[in-house]
Amino acid sequence: MKVLVVGGGGREHALVWKLSQSPRVKEIYCAPGNAGIASLARCVPVAAEDIPGLLAFARQEKVDLTVVGPEGPLTMGIVDSFSEAGLAIFGPTARAAAIEGSKVLAKEIMAKYHIPTARFASFTDAREAAAYIREKGAPCVVKADGLAAGKGVIVCETVAEALKAVETIMVQKAFGAAGARVVVEEYLTGEEASILAFTDGERVIPMVPAQDHKQVYDGDRGPNTGGMGAYAPAPVCTPEVQRAALEKILIPTVRAMAAEGRPYRGVLYAGLMITPDGPKVLEFNARFGDPEAQPVLMLLESDLVEIMEGLLAGRLSETDIRWRPGAAVCVVLASGGYPGSYEKGKIISGLDTVPPDVAVFHAGTALKDGQVVTSGGRVLGVTAMAPDIPAAIEKAYAALEHIHFAGMHYRRDIGRKALNRNKN
Ligand code: ATP
Repeated sequence: MKVLVVGGGGREHALVWKLSQSPRVKEIYCAPGNAGIASLARCVPVAAEDIPGLLAFARQEKVDLTVVGPEGPLTMGIVDSFSEAGLAIFGPTARAAAIEGSKVLAKEIMAKYHIPTARFASFTDAREAAAYIREKGAPCVVKADGLAAGKGVIVCETVAEALKAVETIMVQKAFGAAGARVVVEEYLTGEEASILAFTDGERVIPMVPAQDHKQVYDGDRGPNTGGMGAYAPAPVCTPEVQRAALEKILIPTVRAMAAEGRPYRGVLYAGLMITPDGPKVLEFNARFGDPEAQPVLMLLESDLVEIMEGLLAGRLSETDIRWRPGAAVCVVLASGGYPGSYEKGKIISGLDTVPPDVAVFHAGTALKDGQVVTSGGRVLGVTAMAPDIPAAIEKAYAALEHIHFAGMHYRRDIGRKALNRNKN
C-alpha cells in the first residue's frame, strides 16, 4: 500500500520510520518531510496545512492511507476533506480536534463531564478576566484559547504577571484571534506526564506513558520549548495512576466527545499533572506528541499500519497493540539560541557514525549542496532503546557524542526524574 505522512518534524520522522517497517507498506510519501525523512520516504513539496494540495496529491498517487502529524491541518479539517473525498485518513475530524484547538471548549467539556482538571474560568472580556484574577490571586495560569505553537500558556507567580498576561493575549493580541478568549486556571503542582491513547471512538487503548522536558535548561529551568527530550515508560505513572488516567480521564473524554456530537477517532493525548489527588488534565492534544512520539513509537512492537487500519474500521483491539519490554529515551539537539532566535544552515557532521541501533530522528534539517544542515530550532532527536531507563539514557547520550553542529545544545538530564524516582 501507499502511505502519505503529513508534516516534517521529529514526530513525523518517527511515524515514517515506524510505518516503513510494516510489510504492508510499499511506498511512503511525506509532505513536506525533511532531510532525514528523505532517506525513508519520498518527500513532497506540499505544506502540511495546504489541504487542497495534499488532497490533490493523494488522489493523483492513489494513496491508500494518510497519517497526519501536526495539529494545524487537523483543526483545519484535513480529515473531513479526505473523508468526503473517500480517502482513508488517520486522525480526528475538525470538530473532534477542537479539543486541542480550543482550550475553552476542552475545559467546558471537562467541567460538564467531571473530568479531573484545574479549576478555571474563561473570558472574552479582558476587564472581567482581570477582576477574576484579582479575586482569586496568584499563582495562576493564563491560557490563550486557540493554537499558539505552545507559547499561549503563561504560568504566573504574581497577580501583576497574570494581569500582564491578559493584556498581552487579549489587548495586544500577541497570538491574534487565538487570544480572543482566555482561560484563567488554578496552578497545579506535581510531576507532569503524557498519556497517549489510540481510540476508535469507543474503545480506548493507552500507550506506554511518557514524560516530556519542556524547559530549555537542565533541572526544568529557563523558558519553555517545543520539548527538549522525552522518555517512556515514565515511572511517575504508576499502575494506579495509569488506571485513574484511563478510567477517569481518557474513557470519559472519548464518551463525552461522542455525546457532544464530536466523535473522536485517532490518537488522544492527555497532558497530565500527577497531583497528590491523582492525575489532572493540563491539556489535550489531538495527535501524537513531539518528542513523546519518538520513544513511544520505538517501544511499539506491533505494526502501526494494522493498528491504524483496525482503528479506522472500528475494530481496535488490545491484543493488536503490543509493547517491547524496556525503555526508550529521546534527547533533542537544538540550535544555539533556541527557543529564542537562532541561525540556520549549520552543517551537521557525524550522522553516519552513530551506532545503527540508535535512531536519529530529524526535526529541523534540510539538504544543501549534498550536506545535511540545520533548518529549525529543534534539529535532531537522538533516540535509543535499552532494557531499562538508565541503560537507554547512557546509550542515547553516548550516541549523540558523534554528532556536531555549530551552536548545538541539549539538556543533559533527560530521564533523570525517572532515576530519582526509582531510587526512592
Ligand atoms: P503544547 O506546546 O504542549 O501544545 P500548550 O501551549 O498547549 O503546549 P499546555 O501544555 O497547556 O500548553 O501548558 C504548557 C505548560 O504550562 C505545561 O506543560 C505545564 O508545565 C504548564 N501548565 C499548564 N497548565 C498548568 C496548571 N494549571 N498548573 C501548573 N502548570 C501548568
